[in-house]
Amino acid sequence: MKKKVLVTEYIHPAGVELLETECEVVRPSDSSLAALKQAITDVDGVLVRVAPINREVLEAAPKLKVIGKHGVGTDNIDIQAATERGIAVCNTPEANSEGVASLAITLMLATSRRLLECDAFVRAGRWSGKEDLMGYELLGKTLSIVGTGRIGTRLAQICRDAFSMKVYAYDPYVSDEAMAARGITKVENVDDLLPIADFVSVHTPLTPATRGIIGARQFDLMKKNAILINTSRGPVVDEAALIDALRQGKIAGAGLDVFEQEPPSPDNPLFKMSNVILLPHMGGASYESMERMATHSAAEILAVLRGDRPKYLMNPSVLK
Ligand code: NAD
Repeated sequence: MKKKVLVTEYIHPAGVELLETECEVVRPSDSSLAALKQAITDVDGVLVRVAPINREVLEAAPKLKVIGKHGVGTDNIDIQAATERGIAVCNTPEANSEGVASLAITLMLATSRRLLECDAFVRAGRWSGKEDLMGYELLGKTLSIVGTGRIGTRLAQICRDAFSMKVYAYDPYVSDEAMAARGITKVENVDDLLPIADFVSVHTPLTPATRGIIGARQFDLMKKNAILINTSRGPVVDEAALIDALRQGKIAGAGLDVFEQEPPSPDNPLFKMSNVILLPHMGGASYESMERMATHSAAEILAVLRGDRPKYLMNPSVLK
């Protein structure tokens, strides 16, 4: 009998086709937690985007051998609980770096040239008075990055190559030499990045050390014309402190793909601010990224179910 794989959310059809070469693909009846717990009871693998695969869900999955994360950030998966049950957890770190880095540069360009305000201006039938909508160019400006992994490094490369920007970064896990090889100047403390930056872009995973790494004190250190870009995870930036900084004019604007609460509450004060651009967690949502995430995560699941070693195993102890 074919092994069963639960695909919890929409994925590119190429991933489903790949799974179906060796497995039966099943889906939950709806997006509720109850439907997830029901659907997971007799499957061997799960392919998940952002649905919560927490301890409670794992307790309902006695046959489960592998969780394939469609994406990089695995904060929706309880890896500790999975490891205790011998369940392999794999992700797709190579699949969406380009998509997220290109979204970050899009947000930098769009916020600095006040694109949404210009668009609203034209739609309102206005034309004269556009000098009030002037913005800044990127050429020669300074970008400060928190976290220089795949996405942060790719953004640095785009900014240097296309706009001759100066790039500084804080990442305690990357050496001075490795940063220099990427054309980035390393700083030892996140606060050192802020007074020099025209743009601050965060690209770390969400961990206890990165939660709120950009908070009230950090906004106080930024230039008044600085723009914050967050395409990592919402809680990496203290959202209340960001709202306060925008209200008080401590920074000029923000481009956000992620929020502390997703979806954000309709009464979130950011909704009323014209100098912020808000996106619905779209970093990995290019056609190319979607296809790569689906096929890479499907390939990882098939490898584990076949007894082979997957490429990106996050809890290696389970396959010893
Ligand atoms: P990566 O693992 O290649 O890089 C993360 C970097 O963060 C590493 O270099 C690491 O050393 C650094 N880091 C870890 N802790 C840190 C700390 N305390 N201070 C400073 N740096 C620290 O990951 P990546 O592929 O570049 O992705 C980065 C993040 O982007 C992911 O963890 C995920 O949360 C987010 N992401 C968002 C989307 C989206 O749709 N918006 C899509 C993919 C990934």
